[in-house]
Amino acid sequence: MIRIPISEKQKEEMEAIYWNWMERYHLEKLLAIIAKDAIFKELVMDGKADLLDALKTYLFSDCDELERQKSRIDNMRAENKYIKQETEDYLKARYENFRNSQAAKIVQVMNLTVCPYCNQNHLNLVYQEGKLRYWGSLDHFYDKKTYPELAVCLYNLIPVCKVCNQLKSCQKAEIAHPYQYKKQSSIQFKTVFDDKLDLDYLQGKSQNFRIAIEESQLTQEDKEEIRLFDLEHRYQQLKQNVQEIIIKSKAYDAVYQKQLESEFGFSREELDAYIFGYTDNHLNRVLSKFNLDMVKEFMG
Ligand SMILES: [Zn+2]
Repeated sequence: MIRIPISEKQKEEMEAIYWNWMERYHLEKLLAIIAKDAIFKELVMDGKADLLDALKTYLFSDCDELERQKSRIDNMRAENKYIKQETEDYLKARYENFRNSQAAKIVQVMNLTVCPYCNQNHLNLVYQEGKLRYWGSLDHFYDKKTYPELAVCLYNLIPVCKVCNQLKSCQKAEIAHPYQYKKQSSIQFKTVFDDKLDLDYLQGKSQNFRIAIEESQLTQEDKEEIRLFDLEHRYQQLKQNVQEIIIKSKAYDAVYQKQLESEFGFSREELDAYIFGYTDNHLNRVLSKFNLDMVKEFMG
């Protein structure tokens, strides 16, 4: 739902953390595994001459590249070509190791504190015995059961909450890759009011309305996301938030706005964000996207 912009500097840092982990502890064994598995080798080499170079490129495939690799794997399967069980087990075990030892550092570099799929749950980083630990989940965008070949590709791993990870792991869906920043999501929340005779909800006095998602702009990928993560149901419980926003929007009139602006020295945009609880990119505040949509609906 929320795309994750990753700057060149962040990419560099993430790849440095990854490669340090790989080179120090696993590279030698991985190269030996590749040497013994012709199918996996073909996949990694991808027509290149230098194995180490090819491996690095493979492991750091971006979202477009991952999509291409996935197609290559599908084609190989069609020809009945599979990587060896030993390779699969090794890659899955490396993933577990990466998750336990490196995910916290990656999440920190990404500056991500909220799940990008639902924008409802925190991704907690916790200090435990002097070590930073990540308590959220890592989603394999291309699931590791179907595509174990991509189990340790850095950009196939997406920090998400446990609820979303569970929902995604037990269903198939074609959604947009969260690192695909160019493909913005069109998911937009709104309220729907059925009973024309009761307008109390517009005063924030009743919960006689429903929270819905605007359907007119949705792409196929957005629709899949809504279904996969059960977004409409998961947002129904937020009527209280809507009421608060309606009441705040009434209390926060032009005179009060001016007063706040001069008293605190904030811009109008900054004040709106603080009062109604949203941020620019939605990735470090829960419900930021929802709150912003509600503010747009009720404040224009
Ligand atoms: Zn989530």
